[in-house]
Amino acid sequence: LASNFTARNARSKRIHDAAIKSLPGGNTRSVLYYEPFPLSIKRAEGSNLFDVDGHDYVDLLGEYTAGLYGHSEPLIINAITEAAKRGINFGSQHEDEGKLAELVKQRFPSMELIRFTNSGTEATLMALSAAKAYTDRSKILVFDGGYHGGAFTFKNGKSSVVNAPHDYLIARYNDLPSVYALLDDDANRQQVAAIIVEPMMGSSGAIPPVAKFLEGMRHLATAAGAVLIFDEVMTSRMHAGGGIQSQLSASIRPDMTTLGKYIGGGMSFGAFGGKREIMELFDPRKPNALSHAGTFNNNVLTMSAGRVGLEQIFTPERASQLHARGDKLRKTLQDVSRGTLMKVTGYGSILCFHWSATEVEDIKSPQDLKDDDKTLGDVFHLYLLDRGFYIARRGFVALSLALTEAQLDGFVAVVRDFLRAHEQLVS
Ligand code: PMP
Repeated sequence: LASNFTARNARSKRIHDAAIKSLPGGNTRSVLYYEPFPLSIKRAEGSNLFDVDGHDYVDLLGEYTAGLYGHSEPLIINAITEAAKRGINFGSQHEDEGKLAELVKQRFPSMELIRFTNSGTEATLMALSAAKAYTDRSKILVFDGGYHGGAFTFKNGKSSVVNAPHDYLIARYNDLPSVYALLDDDANRQQVAAIIVEPMMGSSGAIPPVAKFLEGMRHLATAAGAVLIFDEVMTSRMHAGGGIQSQLSASIRPDMTTLGKYIGGGMSFGAFGGKREIMELFDPRKPNALSHAGTFNNNVLTMSAGRVGLEQIFTPERASQLHARGDKLRKTLQDVSRGTLMKVTGYGSILCFHWSATEVEDIKSPQDLKDDDKTLGDVFHLYLLDRGFYIARRGFVALSLALTEAQLDGFVAVVRDFLRAHEQLVS
């Protein structure tokens, strides 16, 4: 497969070979690298990607959830071009900024006040800073395998950043006793400023929460006097009210929420918000207000695209349709793969392939996937590319609104072919 891939993609290889001279690994997003070299895409339309060597692909990666609207969604393109005609950035407040904030608040009622950023990474950075200032404490409780942005990645009990910008307590996802154990220590409990959690673990492989896990977090955060932050950068697409446990149902309300991805209409975007008394720390009318700046925070193109997306496209009905479609696809793939190493986890329109002997219902944290066969994952990825389906190398899939039933059926058929070919090879 790899030699076939190299032969089929001579132009992509040339572009990669040139880029590697100026960029470590040849690109500027580590996650996009795969062996033997990543494809160069030159154009995208609807649910399709077109590479420089003349192949087209069904886009099942959906820009890691940011591409929810599909490529070139006419209302989004119109919003961006109309906004650009009026000027790209004003260095001033403008109407779409407040309108987008209002639309986000309607869907996430726990966000009483909101601020925008340029990325999800910045949003979590600001939320953590707010929690530390609000509580006057220093420690942050996170989960092993959790991803909150490039500078906030946790793996094998460690932060990815050598000089970690915070003092972390690292617990195991879906494992309340591991959180109790950390907070049992008086010094930890008295110093914990925030618990930050993804309502479903995204980057680590679309691992949903077990029943009562998020409720448990709510309870523990309150008991310790810590700020509970839901990082909904990926999960905000699940329901009209966000998250797995919709924030519209008042049962579990985080103190703060971070957002990103599709909410900016596919443009560079992030947001953080929450309880009024926390967010008011940023109110510039107050003496000693916390600083929150950023030249492009309210950039006109993002605010406009985001507004049109929530107002006119991703209505609550479309949100639940997409969610149901994802659930159906995941169940079909789980049926197709029964009895094989292929495991499909996820929720709604986000799913992930794993190659492990662990049964789907027993995959509760990234640590349950220690036997994941990465080589088989690599082969599967190249096989899908060869058959015209684009997913993340690590098996991650996020559906867009542009995908058709026929494309999803075609995908299932190709997955079946792969499993059949693999079975023949090993028997
Ligand atoms: N939090 C989560 C849960 C994410 O999945 C991501 C991005 N994949 C981020 C934060 C960071 O967002 P961005 O890439 O926009 O910085």
